[in-house]
Amino acid sequence: MWRATILTLFPEMFPGPLGFSLAGDALSREVWRLEALQIREHGLGRHRAVDDTPAGGGPGMVMRADVLAAAIDAAAAADDPRPRLLMSPRGAPLTQERVRRLAEGPGAIILCARFEGVDERIIAGRGLEEISIGDYILSGGEVAALALMDACVRLLPGVMGEEASGTEESFEDGLLEYPQYTRPRGFEGAEIPEVLLCGDHKKIAQWRHEQALRLTRERRPDLIARFKR
Ligand code: SAH
Repeated sequence: MWRATILTLFPEMFPGPLGFSLAGDALSREVWRLEALQIREHGLGRHRAVDDTPAGGGPGMVMRADVLAAAIDAAAAADDPRPRLLMSPRGAPLTQERVRRLAEGPGAIILCARFEGVDERIIAGRGLEEISIGDYILSGGEVAALALMDACVRLLPGVMGEEASGTEESFEDGLLEYPQYTRPRGFEGAEIPEVLLCGDHKKIAQWRHEQALRLTRERRPDLIARFKR
């Protein structure tokens, strides 16, 4: 079973949106498991402090390496095969390829930071892989962890209804998805493209590929460069 262990100051945020729809159904069918652990249980002193002022000065607070180490060590044995992820705007941008590899593995241990982030030494100290969900700053890692898990869980066997719908999506072949249509045939004067109604599957596949290429060129030339089409 695919298992996610979350370390956070806000365990009540989980499963949150992942308790609904496909991911939520899969959670109750035990296709995957989620545990959210309170970092503060490993906090120091009467106030269970988890953070302190930044060395060298500056605004905000930094999460302490000793507290995080205790939380990580209590959450997962040293030989736990799951990758240890740190949600971080400095991390490698999350891609569908990384998501697919994570989904094929045993799960993930995910550290969600708050404040200005974590003491740098915990990253090498516990072998954390930093992952970003985009070039913008969230107030904490929880929403990022939810996004990452959502992307993984929908790929687990038995989660999505139709097997094929996992492989025809944007990014799966390095391109954005082609435009989709459904009934009614005419909507406010705009018709469904004729080719989609012709019944010739080869022609339809070709049209879709052309459209995917066009959209990707227009919107994401970086993807074209990466996949060399
Ligand atoms: N001072 C940090 C930002 C801290 S934001 C910096 O400038 O890099 C607080 C926490 O939210 C981060 O430590 C991280 O866990 C999470 N977070 C914020 N933006 C994120 C993003 N784009 N992707 C993943 N996690 C993010």
